[in-house]
Amino acid sequence: MHRFGSSDIKYLKGVGAARGSALADEFGIRTFRDLLYYFPFRYNDRSRFYKIAELEGEMPAIQIRGRFVRFSTEGEGARQRLVGLFSDGRSLMEVLWFSRRRQIRESLSLDREYVIFGKPQFFRGSYSMVHPEIEIFDPERPPEGLRGQYNLSEGARKKGFTSKAIGKLIANALELPAFASLQDTLPASVVKAKRLMPLAQALRAIHFPTDPVALRRARERFKFEELFYVELHILRFSRERGAAIRGPVFASVGEKFNRFYADVLPFPLTGAQKRVIKEIRADMRTGRQMNRLVQGDVGCGKTLVAFMTMLIAADNGFQAALMAPTEILARQHYAGLKEWGDAVGVRVEVLTGSSKASERREIDAGLADGSISILVGTHALLEDRVKFRNLGLAVIDEQHRFGVAQRARLWEKSVVSPHVLVMTATPIPRTLAMTVYGDLDVSVIDELPPGRKPVTTLLRYEDSRSDVSRIVNAELKAGRQVYIVYPLVHESDKLDLKSVEEGYERICAAYPSYRACLVHGQLSPDEKARQMELFVSGKARIMVATTVIEVGVNVPNATVMIIENAERFGLSQLHQLRGRVGRGADRSYCVLMSHYKTAAPTRKRLEIMTETSDGFVLAEADMKMRGPGDMEGTQQSGIAFNLRIANLATDGQIIEAAREEAGKILDAMPELSGGKSSGETAVSPADAEILKGELALRFGRSVDWSHIS
Ligand code: ADP
Ligand code: MG
Repeated sequence: MHRFGSSDIKYLKGVGAARGSALADEFGIRTFRDLLYYFPFRYNDRSRFYKIAELEGEMPAIQIRGRFVRFSTEGEGARQRLVGLFSDGRSLMEVLWFSRRRQIRESLSLDREYVIFGKPQFFRGSYSMVHPEIEIFDPERPPEGLRGQYNLSEGARKKGFTSKAIGKLIANALELPAFASLQDTLPASVVKAKRLMPLAQALRAIHFPTDPVALRRARERFKFEELFYVELHILRFSRERGAAIRGPVFASVGEKFNRFYADVLPFPLTGAQKRVIKEIRADMRTGRQMNRLVQGDVGCGKTLVAFMTMLIAADNGFQAALMAPTEILARQHYAGLKEWGDAVGVRVEVLTGSSKASERREIDAGLADGSISILVGTHALLEDRVKFRNLGLAVIDEQHRFGVAQRARLWEKSVVSPHVLVMTATPIPRTLAMTVYGDLDVSVIDELPPGRKPVTTLLRYEDSRSDVSRIVNAELKAGRQVYIVYPLVHESDKLDLKSVEEGYERICAAYPSYRACLVHGQLSPDEKARQMELFVSGKARIMVATTVIEVGVNVPNATVMIIENAERFGLSQLHQLRGRVGRGADRSYCVLMSHYKTAAPTRKRLEIMTETSDGFVLAEADMKMRGPGDMEGTQQSGIAFNLRIANLATDGQIIEAAREEAGKILDAMPELSGGKSSGETAVSPADAEILKGELALRFGRSVDWSHIS
């Protein structure tokens, strides 16, 4: 695709300097290749004309051929509309316009035959169409098949671009003689092995499909191509690191670990905790740097696994750090770990943005002389002034709040790269984890400590608030605590949501004999900590909060979680919130409060919550329903790529095939991942050229090929 592909778009017929820069601004299209890789987001079926009598059920957009027999204006004010009665020769249907009525009326005539295209709406017993696309029927024109629709930004529309115009430009590019000699973007060996559609053919088929089968194959090819390079990129770096980076050797499990296990630990480890600790120990013995993701549902006991891992570091003479995403969580971790640390003679300290200067000085000293074995904190741990004597292990809690770049900063804090343990309760579907965290090994804690009662989840509407109060009252009376969570902090938001402050006042009035506290994101850190403390200590029995409590808060005495406007939350988020209760041995409740009028898909989403407590099932469902782009946390997780055609939720099989193929390529070309070229690889020079070129083009970073002679 070289020369042709990289030519400036302004040289294409129909573009020129002005439209060229508009294409760059509005679409990010700068080269011929960018244009050709601007794929339709949808296809309209223009393969045949429908009859009005054929319409039934929920229809996609379709086309109908016919004439207007009458126009009239109906309705008042904002509901005023132009109504055209459209006949296909046998039956009649109304066509409606709410805006640009006069222009539209003037542009249409009763004497012509038209093709209208749109989605039929079923209303009061008959079908109609609103603002359809309209063309004069042209008997000369050959019937079309599927017509691609291109996404247009608001700005692009303002600059006069239409989907049709983009299609025309693409057609111009496909007609150029140079297009015929286009070089494939995938190695010939891969195209052959995977029986993929070759590039030129696939480009024609994806933009101007002649039949659905060709379109499907073209789309598969581009999905594969996209995922293949993402996987190649990720695997390349993980292999490089695996090969080159050494970590400290934790040869033995020592005295502190054993003492904690034998004398301090108040309960037996679950089987899953034991297994994961074993996996971690095996990693840390090898002399290779560990990069491990520990996934486990809320409440499965990840903190304990982290602590015991840190004890192994201490037993081997190394320091450990635990980084949490929020001040509240850091302080809560600290309180728990300090108690355990004191019991086995391990010094634990905490460092956050609000640590005082005098505390900081003490910590600096303790880190330098090695007397601090475990430092808990927020991202304040990443600051340059924080210097460890010998950091051997970094544990990162709830990684999705931390970017890859921040992880790398922790590694810089010591001579030998410390082992890295990332803990998350966000159940990341396997396909997503493979692609996003391709460079991490994964351990799963798939077992909750014994004795936990599952949380009873109820979906309730406004009119059953009194039922909900009954549950709350009963639990408060029994000495338990209650969370009430709101999605927003201020009423200023356009959406009509009850603000958390209003809710707080209502709660105070409704339960006058119990103290309530209020926690939200607009409080100062001090005030927030004070309010949290009220609840953690049990002085406050009710906490009214926004989602700041989502991650990590641990109050086993809390047995009720009420989530207001639950429809505003994603499933994974609801699941996280639900995980705040059911932490003790008592029966717990999670009540999802919702509006009557929520749309069916939303209600279905909430109903899934009442049916399963499996975080992974919920995460998969969430991703299928909302698309992975919406998944909480993916933005911050350091995904270094945008997918334009592949879908992490639905293309699992293609991801696996792409990953496997990428692995084979790296085996054949070790030089791609920093290894030595074996001289004679299984990859032809032409294919190797394509791979290197594509990696450089797709992932910006210029690749250092100097060691390839
Ligand atoms: P998470 O995985 O969500 O971070 P935590 O580490 O906060 O979970 O653990 C939740 C609670 O379960 C804590 O109170 C912890 O002490 C307790 N816990 C952890 N492991 C066990 C176990 N093996 N048996 C009983 N309770 C446990
Ligand atoms: Mg936790």
